[in-house]
Amino acid sequence: MNLQSKLAILADAAKYDASCASSGAAPRNSVGGRGMGSTEGMGICHSYAPDGRCISLLKILLTNFCQYDCLYCVNRVTSNVPRARFTVDEVVQLTLDFYRRNCIEGLFLSSGIIQSPDYTMEQVVEVARVLREEHDFRGYIHLKTIPDASPELMQRAGRYADRLSINIELPTAESLTALAPEKNSAAIDRSMARMAVHIGESRAARKEQAAQAIVSMPQSRTTRRANVPLFAPGGQSTQMIVGADATDDRTILATSARLYGVHRLRRVYYSAFSPIPDAARALPLAAPPTVREHRLYQADWLMRFYGFTHDEIVPPSQGNQVGMLALDVDPKLAWALAHRERFPVNLNTAPRELLLRVPGFGVQTVDRLLAARRVRRLRHADLARLHVPLKKVLPFVEAADYRPGRALDAADLAAQLTQPPVQRSLF
Ligand code: SF4
Repeated sequence: MNLQSKLAILADAAKYDASCASSGAAPRNSVGGRGMGSTEGMGICHSYAPDGRCISLLKILLTNFCQYDCLYCVNRVTSNVPRARFTVDEVVQLTLDFYRRNCIEGLFLSSGIIQSPDYTMEQVVEVARVLREEHDFRGYIHLKTIPDASPELMQRAGRYADRLSINIELPTAESLTALAPEKNSAAIDRSMARMAVHIGESRAARKEQAAQAIVSMPQSRTTRRANVPLFAPGGQSTQMIVGADATDDRTILATSARLYGVHRLRRVYYSAFSPIPDAARALPLAAPPTVREHRLYQADWLMRFYGFTHDEIVPPSQGNQVGMLALDVDPKLAWALAHRERFPVNLNTAPRELLLRVPGFGVQTVDRLLAARRVRRLRHADLARLHVPLKKVLPFVEAADYRPGRALDAADLAAQLTQPPVQRSLF
């Protein structure tokens, strides 16, 4: 099979993996004529999958042969799809060629499991090693790791990759047993814990060395920092499939909260289940609405940056269905509508935590408001100047010259704030 045909198969097979964002990479570049590539985002092309998801162009599997039989996966051993396998050199050359043509920002490499988890992981790590050590490749590398592979291989992977990930696959251990019987949630947890330890140790050692360098010899800071090896500076991430089983959003967010809290994950990616050809009967026939995936990302954002806990976002008895996020209203607005007694929030006196709960306020807006109110009383006009969505914000705040009156008591407030957008006529 020629390289182009392999690329067609193995790029297509990788499109189901959503965890391709490149945030958090260490800054590296080839300025000064050393090495090749950059993690700084200049001249990088992205491609968009048919569902609108942004993907890195060179996002491939090493192989889509797999000895496991995860029911939701198009590459499972019992799936009737064309198979292909790259050699290590082929992946290296493709990465370098695409990079030279300025088509990609780096490499996202995953693989089906062939022979054994260790054998597969060795091949994946070898691609990254050759790129880094033999070609001085400085672009972004994200390696998808295999939880059952040996800790030594994981550690080597972390030396070369900007980001590592292990897919948790499904939100509960029970779902994993039912749909991916060869996978083991305890092994996934153990691998994530090990990675978290290595990432933490590497960061702490670099910080300590940087601090010592500043104290002893400020001018040699850069040189001294380089002595401590990096370990996955972009942290670790994971992907959870949504809608392949009956797990509700409350449980999904509880799992994410645990992963962020216990394993210090950088990101949890939610991937709406895509029906696959010749699917098992245990799987749903249709994909969940894509807005469900969107609401989960919004809720995830609230947990990471807005101080919400998962059980506040989806309390047991709120939403259209028990344990589910409402689809017609974003989770922050849904929370505010259900807790009207906490509003209006005074822009001039409220603490940051409360301002962050105002629908329509982002983190940056709140920080700007806090900075502005140090020097003057905030007024209605300040909100307009910050370009916040006034219709959404005004019922929930008060300012020096503004009170929302009885807006919060309106029985149809939810309907007023969630009217679907209307397409304007071009004529
Ligand atoms: S191990 Fe990965 S590639 Fe193999 S069947 Fe399971 S999900 Fe698919």
